[in-house]
Amino acid sequence: MKVPVVCPYCGVGCRLYIEQTPSGYRLDYADDVPGIPNENGSLCPKGNAVLDLLSKDRLRKPLKAKEEGKFVEVSWGEAIKEVAERLREIARDDPNGLMFFGSAKTYNEPNYLVQKLARMLGTNNIDHCARLCHSSTVAGLKAVFGAGAMTNTYRDIERADVIMIWGHNYAETHPVGFRYVIKAKERGARVIVVDPRYTRTAWFSDIFLQLYPGTDIALANGLMHVIIKHGLHDKEFVERRTVGFQELKKTVEKYTPERVEEITGVPAELIEEAAVTFAKAENAVVTWAMGLTQSVHGYDNVRAVATLIAITGHIGKPGNGASPMRGQNNVQGACDLGVLPNVFPGYQAVTDEEKRMFFEEFWGTELSGEVGLTTVEATHEALKGRLKAYYIVGENPVISEANSKNAVKALRRLEFLVVQDIFPTETTRLADIVLPATSMLENEGSLTNTERRVQWSFKAIEPPGEARPDWWIVSEVGKALGFTGSGPKGFNYRSAEDVLREINACTPQYRGITPERLKANLAGIHWPCPSEDHPGTPLLYTERFLTPDGKAHLAAVEHRPPAETPDDEYPLILTTTRYVGHFHTLTMTGRSELLRKRWREPFLEVHPGDARRFGLEDNGWALIETRRGRYAARVKVTKAVKPGVVAIPWHWGANVLTNDVLDPVSKIPDTKACACRVKPVGEV
Ligand code: SF4
Repeated sequence: MKVPVVCPYCGVGCRLYIEQTPSGYRLDYADDVPGIPNENGSLCPKGNAVLDLLSKDRLRKPLKAKEEGKFVEVSWGEAIKEVAERLREIARDDPNGLMFFGSAKTYNEPNYLVQKLARMLGTNNIDHCARLCHSSTVAGLKAVFGAGAMTNTYRDIERADVIMIWGHNYAETHPVGFRYVIKAKERGARVIVVDPRYTRTAWFSDIFLQLYPGTDIALANGLMHVIIKHGLHDKEFVERRTVGFQELKKTVEKYTPERVEEITGVPAELIEEAAVTFAKAENAVVTWAMGLTQSVHGYDNVRAVATLIAITGHIGKPGNGASPMRGQNNVQGACDLGVLPNVFPGYQAVTDEEKRMFFEEFWGTELSGEVGLTTVEATHEALKGRLKAYYIVGENPVISEANSKNAVKALRRLEFLVVQDIFPTETTRLADIVLPATSMLENEGSLTNTERRVQWSFKAIEPPGEARPDWWIVSEVGKALGFTGSGPKGFNYRSAEDVLREINACTPQYRGITPERLKANLAGIHWPCPSEDHPGTPLLYTERFLTPDGKAHLAAVEHRPPAETPDDEYPLILTTTRYVGHFHTLTMTGRSELLRKRWREPFLEVHPGDARRFGLEDNGWALIETRRGRYAARVKVTKAVKPGVVAIPWHWGANVLTNDVLDPVSKIPDTKACACRVKPVGEV
C-alpha cells in the first residue's frame, strides 16, 4: 500500500508516497493527486533523499545525562517524571524562568500542545525558529495588510506577467515551487531578481538588481520613487484601498535612482527599468525570503516591499500578491498555532483581555497577559542567569542561532535542558534529558505549507526503538504535571486527530479544517476556513484587508545601514546562504550519504579582486573573522558576489560569525549582513 506523506523539508509542502515492499521501504511520486503543490509528483534532491531519515543513528530510547554529552538510557516513565518534576519546581518559583521552543519541523498538533503547556504553566515564553527567518514578514505584513501570511498561491505565481524575487534564491531553496516561475517564464513572464549574489535564480532573470546586503529599503524606495514620478501607481486602488500615500510620496521623493545607486550599487537605469516593468504589469507577484527578512531592519524591509505591492495594486486578485516563502515545512503552522510569545493560536494577542479570557475559560486555567521572550532574547536572558530551563522540540539552536557561541554559553548556564528530537544533535549533547521523537514518515498529523495550505501527512513507517510521536510526548508531560482535566482542560489525547479537533474549536482560521476533511482531500485546504462547509481561501484580500479599517497601511520608511558596516579592521560584508541539497542545520540532510557527497562542505564565495587583495586562492582555505567568532572554509573565487562582499552557507555552523543584534519590532537578528575580515590559512 502506498502511504501519502508530506515532505519533511521546505515550505513548498510536496507530497510523496512511501510504500513497504519485501526488500524495504521505497519512495514513489504522487503524480496522480490533482491540486497538490508538486502537481506532477516531482521532488527536489532533498525530497528524493527522504528515506535517509531512517538512518541508523536515530534516537531510540529516552536518555538522561551523567555529564555533558554522556548519557544513560532510561524508561519513558522515568524521563517524563523527571521533566515534569523539574518544570513544576521552576514554575512554582517563577513561571518566566521557563522557555519553550516549538518546531517548524513538526506537525501542527504538537506545536499547539507545546504552547498550551507553556501557557498552562503560566508563561508566554514560547517561540520557534520562525523568529530567525520570517518573524519580520509576520510583523511587517500584519502592519500593512492586517495578517502575516502569503496572500496567494503557487498558481498565482504561474499566472503572473512579472515575478519579482527579492532576497530569495528561489531555485535552490524552494526548487519545486520554482517550477511555477519557469512555467510563467515559458508563457512570456518577465523575472526581476533582487539579490547580493548572482544565484541560480538570478540566472533566470530578465532584470538582475545586485544590491549590497542590507540596502533593501533604499531599493524599494527607489522603485516607488520611479513609479510615482511616472504616475504608474494604481491610483484607483491607492485611493480606494490604502491609507498613507501622501506621506509615502514625500518620503520616496528623495530616493532618486542616482541616489539609490550610490547606496545599493544597483545601476540607476536598471532601477528605472525594473520599476516601470513591475508597475506596468497586468499581474505581478513579489516573492521573498531570508535576504529581505533577516535584517536589523527586517520589519521595515517587509513593510517597504508590501507597500510597493500595494501602490501598484498587485494584490487581492489572481496572478498577483505577496509571497513570502517559508523555509521549513511547518513554519506557517507553528506561527498559526501560537508558538509565538505574543499570540495564542490564530494570532489572538495575549495582551487582548477578551482573547485571554476565552483561552482561560477554554483551558480552564489562569493565563499570563505578559508578552514572553523570543528565541534570541531567551539566549540573552539565560546568559544573564535569568532563565532556569528550556524545553526544546526539534530545534538545534547551537547551530541555528545568530552569534551561536552565545547560544552554547546560554544552554550551559541553564539548570535544566530537555530536548525532544529524532537524531542526536549539537544541542541534544548539552541536554539533561533527551526525548526520542518520531520522524515525519513515522507519525501522522497536519502541516501548513507556505501558501496557508493545510495537508494531512499519514504514518508510513514504524518508528525505531521507543521513539514516540511529538504530540504523545508533550501530552504525557502535561499529564505528569497534573493537567488531567477533561477535553481542552487537560492533555488526555488519544491521537493527533483529537488535538486537531481542539485546534478547530479555538483557532478561527482553522475552524473548518477537520481531520476528516483533510484525510479525504490530499490537496488540503487553505486557511482561513471558517466552517466545515467552507472550501478554504486560496486568495486573500479580494475585497478588504484585515486591518481594522480594511485598508492597506502604506509604510514610509527610511534607509538605514545594517548594524555593522565595513571598516579598516573588518573591511568586508559577510552574508549567509544555503545549498539546494541541505536543510537547516544538517540534522536530517547531513545523514544522507548522497546529499553529503554532492554538497560536502561550505565554500566561501569571494570576488576575484578581493581574493587577490587578501591573498586567497580558489579552492584554498580562508579564515573568516568577525567581532564574534572565527570560522574556516574553502574558498570559491567567483564574480557571483560583488567586490567587498563575501558569502557563506550557514548549514555547517557559520553562525559563530553572524550578528545577534535584533530588529526592534520583530526581534529577528541581522544574520544577512555583518563586517568581517578574511585571510588565507592552511587546510583545516
Ligand atoms: Fe521537499 Fe521542498 Fe524539495 Fe518539495 S521542494 S521536495 S517540499 S524540499
